[in-house]
Amino acid sequence: MEDQFIIHGPEPTTFLEGKTLGNVFYNALLKQQHLPVAMVNVHSKETISYEEILTYSSQLAQSLYNWGLSTNDVIAICSENSERYCIPVLSGFYTGIAVTLLNNNYTERELSNITELAEPTIIFCSLNTLNKILFLKNKYDFIKKIIVLNDNSEVLNVDSLKNFIDNNCDKDFNAKLFQPTPLNSDEQTALIMCSSGTTGVPKAVELTHTNVRIRLIHSQDTNFTPIFPFSASVLQLMPMYHALGLSMTLSYILSGYRIVIMEKFEPHLFLDSIQTYKIIYTILVPPLFIFLTKNPIVLNYDLSSLKYIGSGGAPLKKELCEATIAKFESITIMQGYGLTECTSAVIISQLTKSKLGSIGNVGPLVTAKVINPETGKTLGPNEIGELCFKGATVMKGYVKNSKATEEIIDKDGWLHSGDVGYFDEDRDFFIVDRLKDLIKYKGFQVSPSELEQVLLEHSSIQDVGIVSVADEIAGELPAACVVVRPEKQITENEVKDFVTDKVSYPKYLRGGVYFVNSIPKNNTGKIDRKELKKMFEALRS
Ligand code: AMP
Repeated sequence: MEDQFIIHGPEPTTFLEGKTLGNVFYNALLKQQHLPVAMVNVHSKETISYEEILTYSSQLAQSLYNWGLSTNDVIAICSENSERYCIPVLSGFYTGIAVTLLNNNYTERELSNITELAEPTIIFCSLNTLNKILFLKNKYDFIKKIIVLNDNSEVLNVDSLKNFIDNNCDKDFNAKLFQPTPLNSDEQTALIMCSSGTTGVPKAVELTHTNVRIRLIHSQDTNFTPIFPFSASVLQLMPMYHALGLSMTLSYILSGYRIVIMEKFEPHLFLDSIQTYKIIYTILVPPLFIFLTKNPIVLNYDLSSLKYIGSGGAPLKKELCEATIAKFESITIMQGYGLTECTSAVIISQLTKSKLGSIGNVGPLVTAKVINPETGKTLGPNEIGELCFKGATVMKGYVKNSKATEEIIDKDGWLHSGDVGYFDEDRDFFIVDRLKDLIKYKGFQVSPSELEQVLLEHSSIQDVGIVSVADEIAGELPAACVVVRPEKQITENEVKDFVTDKVSYPKYLRGGVYFVNSIPKNNTGKIDRKELKKMFEALRS
């Protein structure tokens, strides 16, 4: 009976050409090599063609093998978005070498956590992240090489991508004759990504070739995605180290679009890029919808080419959708909901169907249900509970953390998202709350437990609990409830500065610091988050 409320996504409208991820991309690039520009970086104005991507990625694949890596080895990338970011990603797909994506804004401390889990042999970085990666190489013996992606000259005795290829690729190598390695796609790890999961501490999400392949089938599905002719211009601002940013970039490559890349949000450059490159489609985090609807500088630009905006990573309110449509009349807004553990989006707006304010409908080859988190009972339409997912985009697991894997994926294969929502009679899904230990600042993950661990290192802090403060622009801000040790003193600014020195900017204590007498705990000594929230609300009222 309950099974009638288990919702299966529709049959996909598209299948990808090629048995493995490596084949899918290699075939697409071969077909698209005549297209002039694949990517343009709006900051440096550097461009790369599809033929260059095909050549460099297959040369790099062969160089990695010749250098001594083989299927099952691990490499990493730590770089801002760039026209070369996907080259090592594609080489990994061709060879079965797993690619770890490191957040380029992470501090050395944050990078150490994920690096220890993934143990990459080679790290590809940018000039901007080089110092942090040199720090990691000094710290970990398993890192044997650093390669700078975005520079052709050698710096600090570190190889550039070009040097590495020149030194390791066979001189008579012909990219057009290259063949990706045959792999077992269901088992082979394609990507390792950072997530705090449902319980806070940093984790490394292991995604298989099949996970990524199915995700790409979603992003190519005509019910869920607008499809444009070759060379249509799309803007890629979401970070490529994130599952959504990467899967969209990969999908754009498959579609043969001109991908206009931004490393970071700069208001005028963002608007100018839409105008200059005649951007038709982009995916943004919700705060940028506020920028588009409220900031007066938007009026100085011709944004009439922009027809579709997707939103992902955090909740987009219905009112904000309406305000955006009121301002840009010919715009279609789509939402995607997902999590790194499901290779990003699993619920996506259907172009002609989903209601405004809804996160959309279950994607192809995904199965979803809403359960009562206490009893596990499957719930029906309009009943609020925890969203759970099953299907080919659910991760293999967390690297070196089977306990956390078993906590999030139950014995029947359902992934418990930690998000609270419901579906209505039309099977449109809505998000209403979050059960898990996660704060989202402008779509970036902020782990309360991780911040608590950092603060507990301060000699004046006896105990601490991190809470979320709602914010109109950023969505949520992390705030700290701090218990000061007897005989010790610490100011709000000292607490804030202590955190700022150790973590990346989304985790700064923008929600404030509140001094309290105690932090509520449950019987097992863990923070009682519900009570903490209540205590915090009472403090602020
Ligand atoms: P990440 O792994 O960084 O993609 O974060 C996943 C989490 O972001 C989800 O579990 C949700 O809590 C939140 N999230 C992602 N997309 C949406 C959305 N469209 N609406 C509401 N929350 C979202």
